[in-house]
Amino acid sequence: MTGEQHLREFRAEVRDWCRAEIPPGWRAAQTGASDAEFVAFQQEWFQRLRGAGFAVPHWPAEWGGGMPVGEQIVLYQELAAHDAPRLVLAFVAIHHAAATLLAAGTPQQRQRHLPAILDGEIWVQGFSEPAAGSDLAALATTARREGEDYIVTGQKVWASGAQFADWCLLLARTDPDAPKRHGISYFLLDMRTPGIDVRPIRQATGESHFCEIFLDRVRIPAGGLIGAPNAGWQVAQQTLGAERGLTMLELAERLGNAGFRWLVQACPSGDPVLLDRLAGFETGIAGLRLLCRDLVERHESGTAGPADASIVKLYYSELLQRMTDFGTELGGVQAHTVLHKPRSGGWESGAWALDFLGSWEWTIPGGTSEIQRTIIGERGLGLPREPSGAR
Ligand SMILES: Cc1cc2nc3c(=O)[nH]c(=O)nc-3n(C[C@H](O)[C@H](O)[C@H](O)COP(=O)(O)OP(=O)(O)OC[C@H]3O[C@@H](n4cnc5c(N)ncnc54)[C@H](O)[C@@H]3O)c2cc1C
Repeated sequence: MTGEQHLREFRAEVRDWCRAEIPPGWRAAQTGASDAEFVAFQQEWFQRLRGAGFAVPHWPAEWGGGMPVGEQIVLYQELAAHDAPRLVLAFVAIHHAAATLLAAGTPQQRQRHLPAILDGEIWVQGFSEPAAGSDLAALATTARREGEDYIVTGQKVWASGAQFADWCLLLARTDPDAPKRHGISYFLLDMRTPGIDVRPIRQATGESHFCEIFLDRVRIPAGGLIGAPNAGWQVAQQTLGAERGLTMLELAERLGNAGFRWLVQACPSGDPVLLDRLAGFETGIAGLRLLCRDLVERHESGTAGPADASIVKLYYSELLQRMTDFGTELGGVQAHTVLHKPRSGGWESGAWALDFLGSWEWTIPGGTSEIQRTIIGERGLGLPREPSGAR
């Protein structure tokens, strides 16, 4: 069988699965859903995907993944085309935590956590602090060695899903005298440890997507260190690199399917100016798909440039913002009276004002648009570097 034939058959298999397994009406059921309903639905959906071998296709085969990239592309295309729910709750666990454990974890740490993630263990990323976001290396949370433990004190902020998390990927300063990036260590923190206070932050959309985490003399056993002491910055690069490639392809497919469909439905036919703008978005989506495919292929062949992921992230997030802005414009005043959108989806729900507010989520985390432009300028185009200390 040729590769193309095989992918055609795989696509048919995924299509059949989607038709049989995607809960019909999940968008309505998840609109206004409580936290408990959201968590139960996400866990159930994750196990359904896991049963089909679709939950962690990007993991190595020995841990339940090993799907060839060509098949993963087909999988995400079909999930998006059939309007499947998104894995929101498991996102940090299956991408960031797994990438970190696989790159820097001990065999014991992997054995402890990777099977647990498959069973539904939820993770949060505790990197950002009130005075350390774009300049992450300025983080001030401290971890002081005391016998067989580290004692952690400080504050994290914007931690997505912390209110649901079992474990946290935590960066803390272990050597206050070393240069900024050389005094940071990386820990796996059990969120049930005494001294942790998680406070959800209410957003303009009414949701609490992220939280503050206060850490007051929290004791982490030395075995919770991942990587060498003071080598946390290097390990963090593995975590931050985890979202690239196929994650962006999945998001692009969702924007190109449900996102664009809602926009077409909202656009009055026969208005040439509006149709012209719609055509512009369609072209934008086609461009995004090509950029994503290119990024995935370059990652696979080991030829990805240092700014490739930044280009895709910048392009996606700003296209999402323009599309949801246009939707809000089309929806008029009525769009502002819709106060709930479905959970378990993305910012392509057709609840335009909420989608537009939510779209700003993508231009900030994982490096703001300004930071992405700096990376593209410096590392992609070879322009002179920012004055040191600016970042
Ligand atoms: C939806 C969402 C989810 C998030 N989830 C998590 C999470 O799970 N875990 C976590 O640890 N963090 C998370 N974050 C935090 C995110 O990583 C930070 O918000 C981000 O790094 C920006 O940092 P900041 O908010 O401190 O803004 P700042 O760094 O203070 O930036 C403020 C403004 O200044 C600009 N700026 C800053 N420095 C420069 C520079 N050198 N050149 C040009 N412009 C600059 C920025 O672009 C921005 O416009 C999340 C944020 C959002 C919005």
